[in-house]
Amino acid sequence: MRQGLRLMAASAFFLLPLPLICAISISSKTVSPGDVVLVSVSGSAADGLRFGKKTLPLFPYNDGTKKCFAGVPFDAQESIEVSCGEEKVRLKLTVTAAKTEKLSIPAKENIDEAKAAAEHDRILKAIATVSGRKLWSGKFGKPVPGAVKTPFGVNRIVNGLPGGGHRGVDLGGASGEPVKSAAAGRVLYCEKTIASGNSIALDHGQGVVSVYFHLSSFNVKAGDSVEKGQVIGAVGSTGFSTGPHLHWGAYVFGVCVDPFAFVRKDFFYGYGKR
Ligand SMILES: [Zn+2]
Repeated sequence: MRQGLRLMAASAFFLLPLPLICAISISSKTVSPGDVVLVSVSGSAADGLRFGKKTLPLFPYNDGTKKCFAGVPFDAQESIEVSCGEEKVRLKLTVTAAKTEKLSIPAKENIDEAKAAAEHDRILKAIATVSGRKLWSGKFGKPVPGAVKTPFGVNRIVNGLPGGGHRGVDLGGASGEPVKSAAAGRVLYCEKTIASGNSIALDHGQGVVSVYFHLSSFNVKAGDSVEKGQVIGAVGSTGFSTGPHLHWGAYVFGVCVDPFAFVRKDFFYGYGKR
């Protein structure tokens, strides 16, 4: 009888489904506008994650976790809740007042506003592209060696009117200087536009995109695969620009972030080496 009870208890133990313990781990729990975090979820069947007001797709990794990158919007004002199923984590937000920069850009005659708006929409659509495979590894590299002229997030007053926060970094460079791909990826967009001039957007996979504006020339075309450090174009002053420089930007699921977030940190450092 005792033996039978023990057997029953043992089989009950094995037959009962183990509760799924869902856990969220995040590369940093204190963030600032423009920051990027890597979110890792284990023990959840969910394919998506809530990050603030957005739902982001999760991608399966070899260690059994699901992960995604997430961007902190540059106009974020309050702490960000990250949740997957019942599990919730809150990120502390540190905001420092953005600097203001005044610019005067000579008015261009006969601007086709409708065309400029359509081009802008096409770029935004390209930037929001999500492809499943992560195409790069390690840190991003600076596309030109020049110093930062205007950092990310600076508030701009253009010709006396509010121009919004700077959605990238402006790097110094001479006209014709080679512009290199920050990381391996695929050319999503490569076109001449009214506002951002000759523009390139690169897809690095899993929602991460980098952009290169005001180029004088292109060395790639849409659909090309590029390696890190490959010359994709040259510095210029095309579009709304006050002189030769490179506007370099990065986006995570369409949220504009500081591209240096990917230069400072290899989010997968040590991954797969355990
Ligand atoms: Zn810029």
